Amino acid sequence: MELASGLDPGTRYRCGACGNLTRFDVESVERVRRFWHVDLAGTGRAEEEVRTEARVVSVACRWCGSTDAIEVVATPGAHDSTGAHGSPATR
Ligand SMILES: [Zn+2]
Repeated sequence: MELASGLDPGTRYRCGACGNLTRFDVESVERVRRFWHVDLAGTGRAEEEVRTEARVVSVACRWCGSTDAIEVVATPGAHDSTGAHGSPATR
């Protein structure tokens, strides 16, 4: 199951307070539908799950703990970046 990051493709979080780009605590509320398969002995397990809704409620910087300075910026390789810095993506 894909994780709910709250980010569109080509974007990432940036902490405006300390410059952190890589480590965040992302808290989300998610609704998941599972195919629950129970055998005749009564033991069940989820064989399939689909997230039907996900909403990010808070993002906190892992370095400085800031929650109100988190920005969403384009990743270096994104084509539709606003042109803030033109360095080519290196992988
Ligand atoms: Zn920070």
